[in-house]
Amino acid sequence: MKKRMIVGNWKMNPITLEEAKRLFKSIKRVAEKLKSVTVVVCPPYIYIPALLNTRSEFQISIGAQDIYFEGQGSFTGEVSALMLKDLGVGYVIIGHSERREMGETDESVAKKVQALFELGMCPILCIGEKIRDDSGSHLEFLKNQIKNSLNKVSKKHIGKLIIAYEPVWAIGAKKAMEPENIYEMSIFIRKVLVDMYGYDEAVSTPVLYGGAVNFRNATEIFSKGQIDGLLVGRESVNSTGFAELLKAVDVS
Ligand code: PEP
Repeated sequence: MKKRMIVGNWKMNPITLEEAKRLFKSIKRVAEKLKSVTVVVCPPYIYIPALLNTRSEFQISIGAQDIYFEGQGSFTGEVSALMLKDLGVGYVIIGHSERREMGETDESVAKKVQALFELGMCPILCIGEKIRDDSGSHLEFLKNQIKNSLNKVSKKHIGKLIIAYEPVWAIGAKKAMEPENIYEMSIFIRKVLVDMYGYDEAVSTPVLYGGAVNFRNATEIFSKGQIDGLLVGRESVNSTGFAELLKAVDVS
């Protein structure tokens, strides 16, 4: 059985290294016992080296929340994929809606995705519409977002791609998208991928859902939403809630 993937996006939390270590330790304790779940934790850059030191590779992976697309040079404040790879980071969230809100474009997303593929790393490519109405315009929007974000990517690299479908209106909201709608959207996303790369590549690309996931709704999202994993924001920095979520979705 394909393992379910749970990605925790810590965003700009917590505010001390001590807290970060404590949270990570509590997640690790649960992750060690999971049979059918791959856990990826994406802390702020500054905590990555310390957390990598406390981890054993098979229990839990560490990801980052962004990169700059150049490898090195005069780019003040930026961190490259090359630097993260050197540390042992294998996953990077790209194109999160909060970064898009700060000016990230499909064009820069495409360059970042390509930079990761060239190093054999896995982008967790975030896509999602801001609004949804009866006209179905969100479908066209999503199709364009996927095509533009992957416009530099050839078939040979696509095996490393992870897609996180996060309707922007559900991020930070009280309620997640209805699982039936998540199911429809995951089919739509795969259809776009089939048209771009072919059936085999499309079905083997993990499609995650993100937006107001917590330990209470996670299992239903898996069972009715038919997705491969979850991208979790707030609940991933709540050690009790995240532990409950991991245990709940670990089906054998
Ligand atoms: C996110 O920011 O990617 C996210 C899914 O947040 P939350 O789970 O808090 O809605």
